[in-house]
Amino acid sequence: MTPKIARFLAEQQPATPCLVLDLDRVERNFTLLRAALPLAQIYYAVKANPAQPVLERLVRLGSRFDAASYEEIVACLQAGAAASAISYGNTIKKVAAISRAHAAGVSMFAFDCAEELEKLARHAPGSRVYCRIRVENAGADWPLSRKFGTTIDAARGLMIRAGELGLDPYGLSFHVGSQQTATASYEAAIGRVAMLFTDLRDAGVNLRMVNLGGGFPVRYRDEVPGIDDFGRAIMRAMTGHFGNALPDMLIEPGRFIVADAGVVSAEVVLVSRREADDPVRWVYLDIGRFGGLAETEGEAIRYHITTPHDGGAAGPVAIAGPTCDGADIMYERSNYRLPLALTGGDRVEVLATGAYVTTYASQRFNGFLPLAEHYI
Ligand SMILES: *Cc1c(COP(=O)(O)O)cnc(C)c1O
Repeated sequence: MTPKIARFLAEQQPATPCLVLDLDRVERNFTLLRAALPLAQIYYAVKANPAQPVLERLVRLGSRFDAASYEEIVACLQAGAAASAISYGNTIKKVAAISRAHAAGVSMFAFDCAEELEKLARHAPGSRVYCRIRVENAGADWPLSRKFGTTIDAARGLMIRAGELGLDPYGLSFHVGSQQTATASYEAAIGRVAMLFTDLRDAGVNLRMVNLGGGFPVRYRDEVPGIDDFGRAIMRAMTGHFGNALPDMLIEPGRFIVADAGVVSAEVVLVSRREADDPVRWVYLDIGRFGGLAETEGEAIRYHITTPHDGGAAGPVAIAGPTCDGADIMYERSNYRLPLALTGGDRVEVLATGAYVTTYASQRFNGFLPLAEHYI
């Protein structure tokens, strides 16, 4: 937790549950990433946290934006982004959204199949397009692979077709999975797209861009490699495969930019044992799977939780949310331990919750209000 957030929580005592996000930390993360990969253009993945204060800060820093819907495009424009700085990166887009994005001046679009390419040719004629390749997501705590991307073979045909349809076959993209902790995943993916670059050049199509997607990890409960390790591995692979004829490099970080800038302040609703002699206590918070902590599904993302009693004797716990849904359990198997002194009414902090939390909160399930947000 940053000192600014600690001070805000101590002085304001905002009602829980709420997210408090330090915009200076967003700026620091953006700067660190830019230093680690100075040749890459950063397209912030808006879906990680689309709040206006975040977007505005990133506009000031010169970020570009990866938007997944027309609504996200509007949010970027409202924050002051130029349409030319926005990539419509979702491979699944409504026709109306494509037309409106095109009319707003967005000129770069992702796709991964012939059907979507035809839609782009008709409703965003002349645009730059890039094809998403399916790559291994091993090493990612939050994989994305099955729903998106195509094979190298299919991509080859699609990029040729893009040119025939009057679109600009700009490049290739991939996503190695979110919270990716293996630098080798990027290296392997770069090798695959580089092969296709060569192959397509021989077929008369000169691609100019590699979009390396997001995935850069943050520290939750467990240590992860530093961003410089990713920068070095990526540049080694890029120069290894492309020599000094480097194509445009794009990255689409979401989690890395905002996650550790945010803290969820929550209240312990109840601490109880299922049976009197059960060593495991159940800790129910006023936020859970449906209040925004959706990435606890499968215990995939393991947040670090701090309490007022840290340092005192601790014991094993299961941690759950406040709703009447049996699926609203966050951690049962991940060996969480919390202080024995923890009790109902205590305030706890769920750290590194600036990404993929506010937008996952359900609206009024069981009557609970959406997560309150404070950007400081
Ligand atoms: C979600 C997403 C991102 C951001 O991924 P992170 O793991 O949060 O960095 C980037 N690109 C695309 C296409 C995405 O869907």
